[in-house]
Amino acid sequence: MPQVAAYDSKIEGNVIFTQLDAAMNWMRKNSLWPMPMGLACCAIELMAAAASRFDIARFGSEVMRFSPRQCDVMIVAGTVTYKMALAVKRIWEQMPEPKWCIAMGACASSGGMYRSYAVLQGIDQLIPVDVYISGCPPRPEALLEGLMRLQKKIEGEQSFLAQKPRLAAELAPEIQRRPPVRAYVRGGIVGAPPSKRTLA
Ligand code: SF4
Repeated sequence: MPQVAAYDSKIEGNVIFTQLDAAMNWMRKNSLWPMPMGLACCAIELMAAAASRFDIARFGSEVMRFSPRQCDVMIVAGTVTYKMALAVKRIWEQMPEPKWCIAMGACASSGGMYRSYAVLQGIDQLIPVDVYISGCPPRPEALLEGLMRLQKKIEGEQSFLAQKPRLAAELAPEIQRRPPVRAYVRGGIVGAPPSKRTLA
């Protein structure tokens, strides 16, 4: 009769224990799909970062989808004019949580040399920026350095706790606007006041 081992030594070394936060963040930081928001000359350097010489694929970020619903990190590369600014914000809002933003170059970070009536003085006036990259234009290596800084930042995040309150805060006004599904019927008592439970 064959002997059945109670412990399979073959799996030794293949099992790891970790925390959920660490595992989630590890997956997120190594699959940051960019939304390439190329608005001016910095976009050429962004394109170079994706080419073979610099190979952004080494960091898991080669998947530039051009669809906000499939993106994790918006890379704003170029001068943000007022004409484009609201389009950028709209695309940002279409990206699902969790999401991050890199301001690439002087123009995206601060308006750069364009101290003019037509140019937004930094994309952080509209959307939250996680990493700023200096330069006019920054080289592709600088973008890769920024990407690595963002990966470091994600490593330290609380993967769910940091996300849920923000989501709740965004959704609360919309939910409060909705009519209750069964108005004034609560706990089987018709006419009872609606629940005071909130999302906070
Ligand atoms: S920072 Fe320089 S290179 Fe980049 S978009 Fe502005 S002017 Fe062009």
